[in-house]
Amino acid sequence: MSVLERFTLEGQTAIVTGGNRGIGKAIARGLADAGANVVIANRTLESGEEAAAEISEETGAEAIAVRTDVSEEADVSALVDATVEEFGGIDVLVNNAGIAIHGGAEEKPLEEWQETIDVNLTGTFLCSKYAGREMIEGGGGSIVNVTSMSAYIANYPQKHVDYQASKGGMEAFSRQLASEWAEHGVRVNNIAPGYVATEILVDDEELLNTWKSEMLQDELARPEDIAPLAVYLASDASSYVTGESIVIDGGYTVR
Ligand code: NDP
Repeated sequence: MSVLERFTLEGQTAIVTGGNRGIGKAIARGLADAGANVVIANRTLESGEEAAAEISEETGAEAIAVRTDVSEEADVSALVDATVEEFGGIDVLVNNAGIAIHGGAEEKPLEEWQETIDVNLTGTFLCSKYAGREMIEGGGGSIVNVTSMSAYIANYPQKHVDYQASKGGMEAFSRQLASEWAEHGVRVNNIAPGYVATEILVDDEELLNTWKSEMLQDELARPEDIAPLAVYLASDASSYVTGESIVIDGGYTVR
């Protein structure tokens, strides 16, 4: 088998949470490019279906959308059932759905803290639990969690301790899950992006320019810069990689 053949996802099925826009959409497109059937899971069905139709048309892969709130256990269970019914199993799960709510810890309402933990961290647990069961039954799989460089550094001047805690939690969760599920052939890895040009970022040109000046590469990442790493971690190309985190930040955290 050639090196490039090891990146193929031909005949495999991937769920991408938050695959309707931003980083998730680029990852869904990348996995479809590599041959996977793709299931897009987010809260607004219309945008999920639009993204699925676009990806399917551009890549020729099969793509569907299932309305899902990743923090709701019943939704996640139904997502996995719908995926298995449509495609017969699950090989890849990308836990990408995430939110960030800005505000200092001294004023932050408990509800905001809880919402962030529920979506980013509990959502990752729930999707891994239900998709993981199918992977275990099917003999293995790959889980890719989109964390953040925020798991390692303090962001400045943003204030969102809940976001930082959720991303740090995801990283610890992934290491432990990788250890528990290695015996089932399920690998678990993290992609930790730096600043990527998507809706989650603050809309403040001065701040964006400050961050750009702090990067070795002077530019925000584009969502499509993250996708190749997801294909690598999803595929047999990374068969000996598990419990690992890869930072992709244009050199932001090296200095
Ligand atoms: P976006 O805001 O563009 O995307 C967030 C995605 O999450 C949307 O697709 C949204 O869809 C989905 N989502 C939010 N809440 C839920 C929920 N409860 N259930 C299901 N889906 C949900 O931002 P990004 O693309 O940038 O973010 C993707 C991931 O990348 C996040 O985890 C984020 O923390 C991470 N990240 C982003 C960075 C950046 O600079 N952009 C840097 C580092 C990490 P919908 O609203 O329709 O449900």
